[in-house]
Amino acid sequence: MLLSRVVHQKPTSIFRASQSRIFRLPTAPSFTRNPLLQTFIMSIHMKGRCVCENLQYSLELDSLDDARTTLCHCNSCKRAFGTNYGLTTKVPLQGFKYETGTPKKFKQHNGVTREFCDNCGAYICEYGEEAADKFRYIMWGSFDEPEKVPPKGEFFCKNKPKWMPDIPGTFRKQEIKE
Ligand SMILES: [Zn+2]
Ligand SMILES: [Zn+2]
Repeated sequence: MLLSRVVHQKPTSIFRASQSRIFRLPTAPSFTRNPLLQTFIMSIHMKGRCVCENLQYSLELDSLDDARTTLCHCNSCKRAFGTNYGLTTKVPLQGFKYETGTPKKFKQHNGVTREFCDNCGAYICEYGEEAADKFRYIMWGSFDEPEKVPPKGEFFCKNKPKWMPDIPGTFRKQEIKE
């Protein structure tokens, strides 16, 4: 009886105060950034490059769940990629780094910035204004091993050509969020 009374006791104001202090602590650093723990965590390492290899990058992910590859059928992607859709992999900016070279950047009227090689012209990544300090959308074909991150969905299917089949086992959006 005594034990159950203790368990069901309402939290005291002291307990609530200490709890709120815990919630105010700054976010703990990722385990993979801790050199002591790094050897015990199986993080994902990927590499990629432009056509002439002036630009080379590395990508580290805590897991493949942190990468989201999608097709985008919007007219902006068609224009930029020069094909009927854009194919990019969204990853956290934190794990992405240029190992060789500095990309040229172009910001288009809709706020999307694309980074590309000023020698061979190959795109490496793109991002909108809201994503700029959080994510990179990597051009899927620039990966050394793109098959590690197959597509999970399709965006802007309202602009998809009639002759293009659906990708099996992936989600489909008419635009982005509906
Ligand atoms: Zn290049
Ligand atoms: Zn698009």
